[in-house]
Amino acid sequence: MQGLMSERPLLVSSLIQHAARYHGDVEIVSRLVDGTIHRYDYAEAERRARRLGRALLRLGVKPGDRVGTLAWNTYRHVELYYGVSGIGAVCHTINPRLFDDQIIYIVNHAQDRLLFIETSFIPLIERLRPQLPEDCRFILLEPAPTSLQVLATYDELVAAESADGFVWPEFDERTASALCYTSGTTGKPKGVLYSHRSTLLHAYGASLPDAIPVSSRDTVCPIVPMFHACAWSVPYVAALNGTKLVLPGPYFDGASLYALFEAEGVTMSLGVPTVWLGFEAYLTASGARCSTLRRVLSGGAAVPPSMIEAFARHGIAVTQGWGMTEMSPLGTTGTLKHKHLSLDEPARLALRSKQGRPVFGVEMKIVDDTGAELPNDGKSAGELLVRGPWILSAYFEDEEATAAAVEPDGWFHTGDVATIDADGFLQLTDRRKDIIKSGGEWISSIDLENAAMGHGDVGEAAAIAIPHPRWGERPLLVVTPRPGIAAGRRPERDALIAFLAERFPRWMLPDDVVVVDELPHTATGKVMKTRLRELYASHDSAKI
Ligand code: ADP
Repeated sequence: MQGLMSERPLLVSSLIQHAARYHGDVEIVSRLVDGTIHRYDYAEAERRARRLGRALLRLGVKPGDRVGTLAWNTYRHVELYYGVSGIGAVCHTINPRLFDDQIIYIVNHAQDRLLFIETSFIPLIERLRPQLPEDCRFILLEPAPTSLQVLATYDELVAAESADGFVWPEFDERTASALCYTSGTTGKPKGVLYSHRSTLLHAYGASLPDAIPVSSRDTVCPIVPMFHACAWSVPYVAALNGTKLVLPGPYFDGASLYALFEAEGVTMSLGVPTVWLGFEAYLTASGARCSTLRRVLSGGAAVPPSMIEAFARHGIAVTQGWGMTEMSPLGTTGTLKHKHLSLDEPARLALRSKQGRPVFGVEMKIVDDTGAELPNDGKSAGELLVRGPWILSAYFEDEEATAAAVEPDGWFHTGDVATIDADGFLQLTDRRKDIIKSGGEWISSIDLENAAMGHGDVGEAAAIAIPHPRWGERPLLVVTPRPGIAAGRRPERDALIAFLAERFPRWMLPDDVVVVDELPHTATGKVMKTRLRELYASHDSAKI
């Protein structure tokens, strides 16, 4: 027997409609590229998104057409999220930090019909124009001189249309809504094609109290860019909950973020650890106190326990999140359970330093090399597989990548190596390709890095495998000096190895430590270990 409940489609446009109708006066505040602040509310955002929808239709955009964006976190990008998806087209957010050949590949593979370009990225598109599809047309988000042939500026386009009489169309909730390419560090980028249904279910899941809980009393600021897994869905989650949304534009440095948080009363913010390390260094160096910021979600790379402790000293709780572009992106968050509240501080810190437990909707399992499932005992480490309604079933027009990553029964290979404990807490030890295998044993690069970042002189740390004639591979630690500490003070090799020796058996210790001013990062803010492995492939620790 079938249930008798209404089957209203789960559509992205319903989020902004809800926000406009019931939270119409709640603000969306943006810092624009020129540094000025723009503010308006959900009612106005929805009206402009409708005008944009009408403009896109007038330009001939059809359901399923890909519309690209090269843009920062600002209100115009929010309007594009809703205006493009709302008419049944696909909002393709392009990561401008990728290499030129990756961007060329992505725009051609996606066959973008239109590209909306922020001023900062005009030189990039001018340079790449000859290799982009000939029929791709350009719209500038703000007026600026350019050699590109542009159709219009964004505001002209929106101003020319009326919102009156435009009703968001209804269609199948499985229709594609957004497209985001994941770069990986090698190989060609792979497209992850979200649907309206997956986006709505993910927004519900992300809003759960142990996930990204923002209410209508909060003010949320996604620092994670809107070209990175839809800013971890914050523009959708904020609309769903009627939360004031604050967007930092291109200004991610500690001082700018602090000023914005204070001016707008930001209570929760989300970003990658590198951003938070810079923010914490700013707070410590300036002595500034956050009067409203109470919670931070950090994800995309491992959160060192020292970061959780440092933020606690500023009265800010850090929750770790783990996920992937392929997972919309949320998989787990590290919120403690009731029974953990009675644990002592070190035990709680150890748990909070794990990647977290799954949000309802995400199934996880770890398997050994033969594909056999491993126990959730917190010790057995294996490759992590996931499955769920907001996890991809196939890459966009890429059978080879799909076959390599997705099992016939829907389990997706994350490429991460992890343990899971009896409470479901996931702990990543490595990405498969970053594993350090010494004398047949695994050494967790994440463990070494987290511990090294607990040393007062260290900013960022990366542990990489370097070839070794006897052991196969040995760990090398590459670190940067902690920002904000006395100029000229640098981490010292022997002191750092002695510090680690208190925490690891001898055979796990790095053979050597290299101090550099900066580590190379990928377009999504992770340390680029492939580059480090190339740089140090012939590093001879014995010579130091
Ligand atoms: P890309 O694959 O392009 O680097 P993603 O953001 O999709 O971008 O990366 C997902 C990967 O990031 C995960 O598979 C995992 O290796 C890593 N990651 C994400 N969150 C965490 C975390 N909290 N701790 C450790 N690694 C993480």
